[in-house]
Amino acid sequence: MRFKQDFFTQLPGFYSQVQPLGLSNPHWLAWSQDGAQLIGLQQPDDNLLQGLAGNAKLEGARYYAQVYSGHQFGGYSPRLGDGRSIILGEAMGPDGAWDVALKGAGPTPYSRQGDGRAVMRSAVREFLVSEALHHLQVPTTRALAVIGSDLPVWRETQESAAITVRLARSHIRFGHFEYFCHSERGATAKLTQLLNFTLEQHYPHLSCDAAGYRAWFRQVVRDTARLVAHWQAVGFAHGVMNTDNMSILGDSFDFGPFAFLDTFKEDFICNHSDPEGRYAFGQQPGIGLWNLQRLAQALTPLIPSDDLIAALNSYQGELVQHYLQLMRAKLGLTPGADNQTQQDETDLQLVGELTVLMEQNQLDYTNTWRRFGSLDPGSKHSSLRDDFTHLAAFDSWFGRYQARLGQVADVPRWQAERNRVNPKYILRNYLAQEAIVAVEAGDTGPLTVLHQLLRRPFDEQPEHEAFAKRPPEWGQGLIMSCSS
Ligand code: AMP
Ligand code: MG
Ligand code: MG
Repeated sequence: MRFKQDFFTQLPGFYSQVQPLGLSNPHWLAWSQDGAQLIGLQQPDDNLLQGLAGNAKLEGARYYAQVYSGHQFGGYSPRLGDGRSIILGEAMGPDGAWDVALKGAGPTPYSRQGDGRAVMRSAVREFLVSEALHHLQVPTTRALAVIGSDLPVWRETQESAAITVRLARSHIRFGHFEYFCHSERGATAKLTQLLNFTLEQHYPHLSCDAAGYRAWFRQVVRDTARLVAHWQAVGFAHGVMNTDNMSILGDSFDFGPFAFLDTFKEDFICNHSDPEGRYAFGQQPGIGLWNLQRLAQALTPLIPSDDLIAALNSYQGELVQHYLQLMRAKLGLTPGADNQTQQDETDLQLVGELTVLMEQNQLDYTNTWRRFGSLDPGSKHSSLRDDFTHLAAFDSWFGRYQARLGQVADVPRWQAERNRVNPKYILRNYLAQEAIVAVEAGDTGPLTVLHQLLRRPFDEQPEHEAFAKRPPEWGQGLIMSCSS
């Protein structure tokens, strides 16, 4: 790995230097060749293993934990920081630099009561979902590897420690700006320094002045809106949308009790620690805005409030337009030439009614969409119809859908296009769970198979047909806890 150390050298005072504690008997549980390519690595080897386990120093690496704060479940925590993640620096790859972080490498000054460790199951889940979201074309941080160990850690029971090697274009979160706005003396100078660094690193087209700051915040609003639109379209619940888990670049970030929807349920809650459903699936668009409002508040020393408000006001429109674009593609609709506003409304209504029907008929979100790839859009009878029990309501919807769709000239081509946007394979919680149970029993085979499967989520993979099935009874509505 070839590191540059821009954050480390340019932002002293924004992190603490730390020492990873190391892992006993480290071994590869998972490896992403796609992730490796991003930072110009070839194959895993033993030097790299010992380095990423924290047992040996990696050449050119620094070891630091960033400080930030954030709103957790609506309340402000004035100091969080990397409690179980150690950043090694920015590794340079063919198309840019990626922060390399060891998630679970031991305590830092920000660990509070925690041990700074990650258990194997959470490390595996973070690895899988990073790579799965990427291949679903959802912006996300990435993963290089999972390293397992013999080190016992205690959660509800004894488990073993592991490290996810995370790759991120940046680890800067909304919470970084909140921390440097609210914290120390000279905060505005620090805030300016942080913002200028962010602009220079990630927004080279913007200048470090009032105009640049304004345009930047507008882009953060846009990127966040688009990210949430993606999540809603693909049926992904993040689970812990605290502002310290919001990447400033609009990447999916910091995974815990996330879930892809199996049976569609608008108010689906995936986080055991969220009984009120603050972060329920259907709440995500509103929470995205709420989080941006907290960020805007932190930026008031640098950006006039009129500009912040104007940008925030663009959020809903951005989100809806992006969502519409994604959902039209799933349905095979093209936007009409005239009366956009009317068309948008009708199309949003078609989408909304279909999801309501899915919920009423307790249908699987992913599999229902996948049906469009074998649908004859001109026919009244389809395998899609066979899935529904409330037939009259479905027929009424389908009639309006057909009218909106009009004549499809080339049906096979139309179907193939649907299969390129409606995935066949997603990371269902029960699939992750099966892979984790196998790893616990010493077999990484199923994890490797699942990882490879999820690299091609839109392709038919007949040998893995079973992975497209709805969960068995034990795997329905699995709710994960935060204790990772
Ligand atoms: P999360 O919900 O994973 O984003 O974590 C929230 C905060 O708790 C972050 O500041 C983490 O660094 C910290 N944290 C979570 N788990 C641990 C742990 N096992 N040890 C130390 N800090 C932790
Ligand atoms: Mg750069
Ligand atoms: Mg976090």
